[in-house]
Amino acid sequence: MTKGFHFKQALTDQGWLKDVSVSITDTGAFGALVQDDNPNGYPVISNPVVPGMPNLHSHSFQYAMAGLSEVRRNPVDSFWSWREMMYYFAHNVSPEDLQAITAKLYMDLLKGGYTEIVEFHYLHNDADGSYYARPEELSAAIISAANQTGLSLTHLPVFYAHANFGGMSPQDAQRRFINSRDQYLRMIETLKRQQSAYHLGIAPHSLRAVTEGEMSWLMELRQDLLPGCPVHIHVAEQTKEVEDSLAHSGKRSVTALMDQAPVDAAWCLIHATHLDDSEVAAIASSGATVGLCPMTESNLGDGIFRAVDYLAAGGHFGIGSDSNICTQAVQELRTLEYSQRLLHRQRNVLCTMESPNVGSYLWQSSAIGGARAAGRSIGRIAEGCRADFVELSYEKQGNMAAVSPEAVLDFHIFSGQKAEISSVYVEGRKIIDDGQHPQQSAIDAKYISAMQRLAEKL
Ligand SMILES: [Zn+2]
Repeated sequence: MTKGFHFKQALTDQGWLKDVSVSITDTGAFGALVQDDNPNGYPVISNPVVPGMPNLHSHSFQYAMAGLSEVRRNPVDSFWSWREMMYYFAHNVSPEDLQAITAKLYMDLLKGGYTEIVEFHYLHNDADGSYYARPEELSAAIISAANQTGLSLTHLPVFYAHANFGGMSPQDAQRRFINSRDQYLRMIETLKRQQSAYHLGIAPHSLRAVTEGEMSWLMELRQDLLPGCPVHIHVAEQTKEVEDSLAHSGKRSVTALMDQAPVDAAWCLIHATHLDDSEVAAIASSGATVGLCPMTESNLGDGIFRAVDYLAAGGHFGIGSDSNICTQAVQELRTLEYSQRLLHRQRNVLCTMESPNVGSYLWQSSAIGGARAAGRSIGRIAEGCRADFVELSYEKQGNMAAVSPEAVLDFHIFSGQKAEISSVYVEGRKIIDDGQHPQQSAIDAKYISAMQRLAEKL
């Protein structure tokens, strides 16, 4: 018979619906949703079901240093001193280590409710800075980890050429990240030829790392090889970047970006923390998505995104795990909401009177924004979308009897330490079953070996 599911309770475009039957197509997408209290032979999922969450920003190798940079090393520790630690760490990761760390991360992200990862990949070169014979050597480690775990991948090879505005020469500490135009072109051409199991986009690292001329060249490359593909860029994460941008061009970072690149709905601006009023309006009207990484931004002391103004202007946003100190989608959303409560001294900030449940509003908005950022039909339980969904557990939490269906996500996000996720499906296939991944032992064993090797070098 046709493959499909019967959901007793599902978060759809029409809000929370009861008794929804849905078929799954041969390509792993949802068919039409039908409300019917007869499951018609489909397996019944009694627990509440929500769309799988796209994770729109990750640097997978940084998972291995999560928790290792929480020691004060100078009187005013900052993003910039953290970055020194990250560089130090990046120099010691081999392709084999990267595969093991990434597989562990992707398995843990699946358990945390993510079904798509957008990997902002800038670790390109061998430890001494020389190019690998295959420019895609370390991309291959990422792709292998995605295939092993079943987490769907949007891969964004990063173009990274300079240390700061004005084409400043890169530092030795950045040697594993630095591309030449020719090497980057060969990497994209090769990855494009091989792409079937992943989606491909491009990522100028930042206005610090890419000159105006290089940005124009990247846009031509995109037009020739990957027209319409996602473009992601780090921007305005730190006040220092905005100050350096002003010193270089007289323009703030986001204004400078808008002036030199054709930012539209295919773009994702990662962080966009420090904005003036005109920049809030410019991003919202461009149709781009802002990629918020609330746990990493908190950890690094970046600042607080102007979410209230941005949403009032009609802006789109999604969430990413960035440095991967946190693998739970609910913690990112909780931190995002709490940052706004602290800033505005109000409660229940990121929602609307029409959609007053903060949990549902945040989950759905982020899932739709993440889908925009990845450029894929995902993030919704709706006909034609890839059948990615997450089953939240009722049984594991005794006090859910008092929770109305509309408040299920509020409860999962704002009570306890993490959502109780029992199962996670990608393309209609169950990947996480009762909190477990089928390759857990093998992935854990390789990860532990990699960390032991790294611990000896550090
Ligand atoms: Zn980042």
